[in-house]
Amino acid sequence: MTLGITWVTDWIRLSARVIAEHRVELITLDREIGDGDHGENLDRGFSAVIVKLDALPADALPGDALKLVATTLISTVGGASGPLVGTAFLKAAQAAGKEAELDGAAIVALLTAARDGVVLRGKAAVGDKTMIDAWSPAVDAATAAEADGKSEPEILLAAADAAEKGAESTEPLVAHKGRASYLGERAIGHRDPGSQSSALMLRAASDAAQPGFSLVESPGA
Ligand code: ADP
Ligand code: MG
Repeated sequence: MTLGITWVTDWIRLSARVIAEHRVELITLDREIGDGDHGENLDRGFSAVIVKLDALPADALPGDALKLVATTLISTVGGASGPLVGTAFLKAAQAAGKEAELDGAAIVALLTAARDGVVLRGKAAVGDKTMIDAWSPAVDAATAAEADGKSEPEILLAAADAAEKGAESTEPLVAHKGRASYLGERAIGHRDPGSQSSALMLRAASDAAQPGFSLVESPGA
């Protein structure tokens, strides 16, 4: 079972919905160790994405939809996260290339390119208390699942589970990148907002890939 444009657009729409639902939670996390705008930033960006998604041509490819997310987030989201999450989607789009259907290896390549793009742009490593603490374990888990011969939905499920654990793992950390790094030890005990939003987006990627998924029937519709 490969995944194509329907998966990508469901992923994007579900991400927008989930980010909107978790807007206040993300704002609260960012208020604790940042400036409190993370939920607002991403919600504004994904709302703009949804408006543009409707204008996507019927024959659009996964890479086209991912690129639209990238350019929209980069142009509408302020703060550190706009360029970073935008870069993740831009690199994912480049990895998807002109393929209409993505198999497990292609999905791993897409996630890896996204993570590598954020690392290149933001220079954060695992343990710096950033979104990389969600992305990197997700890529590792997806890579291992693909090597085990798992299906595309199983690969994405492994990535989502690992991203959630990764976000949780930021709680005891001191931050070495971004605004939270100014707080030193005062950041300890708080979850990094960017790792949390990345985990939400990766969970959306998995949910949208599961057999029988319907955007209409999912909670909150
Ligand atoms: P800002 O920090 O400019 O207010 P946001 O609040 O939208 O922007 O995003 C903050 C999130 O961005 C952090 O929680 C962290 O996960 C992520 N972040 C910040 N700097 C970096 C970096 N250099 N590399 C990766 N992620 C980063
Ligand atoms: Mg902020």
